[in-house]
Amino acid sequence: MKDFPNILGNEELRERLAADVREGTLSHAYIIEGARGSGKHTLARELAAALACEHSKDTSLPLPCSLCPSCRKIMENKSPDVITISREEGKAQLGVDIIRRLRDDVRLLPNDLDIKVYILEDAHTMNIQAQNAFLLTLEEPPKFVVFLLLAESASPLLETIKSRAPILRMRPLPRDILGANLLRMNSDAAALKRDKPEEFEEIIKLASGYIGQALELLDEKKRRPRLDARHLAKNFLEEMTTRRNGKRSIDLIGMFSQKRDEIIKQLSEIENAARDLIVIKKCEGAPLCFFTSEEEAAELSFKFKASALLGIMNAIGKAKTRLAGNSNVRLTLYALAIDCGLL
Ligand SMILES: [Zn+2]
Repeated sequence: MKDFPNILGNEELRERLAADVREGTLSHAYIIEGARGSGKHTLARELAAALACEHSKDTSLPLPCSLCPSCRKIMENKSPDVITISREEGKAQLGVDIIRRLRDDVRLLPNDLDIKVYILEDAHTMNIQAQNAFLLTLEEPPKFVVFLLLAESASPLLETIKSRAPILRMRPLPRDILGANLLRMNSDAAALKRDKPEEFEEIIKLASGYIGQALELLDEKKRRPRLDARHLAKNFLEEMTTRRNGKRSIDLIGMFSQKRDEIIKQLSEIENAARDLIVIKKCEGAPLCFFTSEEEAAELSFKFKASALLGIMNAIGKAKTRLAGNSNVRLTLYALAIDCGLL
């Protein structure tokens, strides 16, 4: 029986947590660390349900069972004892005021469960005052309280928090498992795979192993700029392998966005593609981060010397630094084209 049935992959993590819940050895706080779309919220909710599940000792059922009233209430987001703490709208940080309110609330007994679970979204955005205020609660929490801190990275959190809250890391899914689950979870995915199989493969690549990101990319509006950036990256590199043509190169520069932050993302895609071309030159069969087809990458890589690819990466690094400063956007792109031998 698969425990934590709504969590994809992450077998080791699921097994460890299920054993801890059944043996009553769970910590009173965890940091759930993972990229956007990696399933942190799903795990937090499933863990809360597992703690409250009325069938947690019944090994013939998965944990949480998803059937008992406690599980259902939590899964349907209706339990007053599973409390989500979020940043105020428009704020970049999780501030101290919210944590102070949390500290007052923590002392109140649960409403209808034996436990109270606090899910702190974007815990990595807590500023220092907020973290210190939170630490006071974390040091002496009431017995019925469990804290789940969701963070893209645990590194901004104080060591004193990390020492009291073990880190649960959400791992990316292998591409085949991601693809199969995407098809199972969303009918648009099947239509895309049938009508535009290349775009489907590109989504799987872009999602980097995270189902939430893959689901988001099924939306044409979210997908299009990312696919355009990939298209531009391939064009840029292919142009470098052909006889120099100023008009074509200027047209290529015109394909970049007008916006500084968008250009930085577009340059990152070229960087990823160039990195793949270097990797494949050095080690056949190595995992690629940009190309969906190893043959395509190998064919393009063959047209470059490794030193030229390193040159591109350096030139892009330089352009990104200039863009992060206050440089003129168009001039920076022209300088990049010159550095890459396009002009
Ligand atoms: Zn249950």
